[in-house]
Amino acid sequence: MTKKWNTRTQLVHEGSRRSQYGEMAEAIFLTQGFAYPDAESAEARFIKAGDDEFIYARYGNPTTRTFEERIAALEGTEDAFATASGMAAVSGALTSLLRAGDHVVSARALFGSCLYILEDVLTRYGVKVTFVDGADLDQWRAAVTPGTKAVFFESMSNPTLELVDIRGVTEIAHAVGALVIVDNVFATPIFSRAVEQGADVVVYSATKHIDGQGRALGGVVCGTRDYIRKVLEPYMKHTGGSISPFTAWIMLNGMATLDLRCRAMADSALKIAQALEGHPKVTKVIFPGLPSHPQHALAMAQMGSGGTLVTFEVAGGKEAAFRFMNALEIAKISNNLGDAKSIATHPTTTTHQRLPQEQKDALGITPGLIRFSVGLEDAEDLIADLHQALEHA
Ligand SMILES: *Cc1c(COP(=O)(O)O)cnc(C)c1O
Repeated sequence: MTKKWNTRTQLVHEGSRRSQYGEMAEAIFLTQGFAYPDAESAEARFIKAGDDEFIYARYGNPTTRTFEERIAALEGTEDAFATASGMAAVSGALTSLLRAGDHVVSARALFGSCLYILEDVLTRYGVKVTFVDGADLDQWRAAVTPGTKAVFFESMSNPTLELVDIRGVTEIAHAVGALVIVDNVFATPIFSRAVEQGADVVVYSATKHIDGQGRALGGVVCGTRDYIRKVLEPYMKHTGGSISPFTAWIMLNGMATLDLRCRAMADSALKIAQALEGHPKVTKVIFPGLPSHPQHALAMAQMGSGGTLVTFEVAGGKEAAFRFMNALEIAKISNNLGDAKSIATHPTTTTHQRLPQEQKDALGITPGLIRFSVGLEDAEDLIADLHQALEHA
């Protein structure tokens, strides 16, 4: 699609529609349905709804539509469908497409709920799933077959910030005609160039950077008009995973500042990673924006940024990590990310608690590991807070 406006203009204006009152702010159409002027119009709309004609909020709504158009324009896809959560987006993107007997190849390092969809749900309905080490293109090459319907991966993994080469995997997948579905949450919609790099479908948890203020759950699937309206929409609108108009409005408000926020967070993340690297109480710093990251060059080519999260290992294991977290004065202990408030997470006892030890070991999720989601606070204050808390570790 040719781009009408640059990013910051899109984020403020794209998709806006105004009622007869000409309101400045995006209106919340808090309505489940729409009255038709006459019975003939109702019949006509059920045969084929026009562009700005709506039937029922589970199918679509003016506020929701504005959010979908804005994020599609930003991502560079023809269309998008907004969902009740990031997981409704991931599960919808996969389940709407796949049938019994289909084959999917997926990266193994996944957000816990994504792993549940692939490992437990899809297989229950006869979909065959092969897991690979996402960073190893040879494993993708060996796993895809002419029968592979889709590949799925998180472009940057949680919590160890390992990248999957979108262009590389896309070439392998497209050679066998498989659809490339990318969960791009950690990359953020601002640093994403996934579509340009070949991805067919890009999925976001809008709960993270898009809201950016920790208020609401939401998600979105971006893709071609054919995929969104013919494959995904029928499934979503009949199974009930649509976003609420109120949430879509929250996400629209988040989008106006999305570019500014992601760039400010990424700038601070780099400063924090630099400040932690070499600290005597920190045994490892993982940040794709640092030259020490093994995929630094790929991160720069793929995202042009190291992102907004820094993962590091505190010397002394779980006890030291807990002492460190409990001593933080600015950052909160929680498990969201992309929030204006900085958040420290201890993956091994929370988000990844249920993984068997050998999988934690394989993924590098050690007892001293901290995932730090960099917020919008002053970077110098955050660094001072991290340094004083490390004294307690
Ligand atoms: C948070 C997250 C999800 C799920 O999103 P929800 O909005 O919590 O449902 C999926 N994938 C990744 C990578 C996430 O970080």
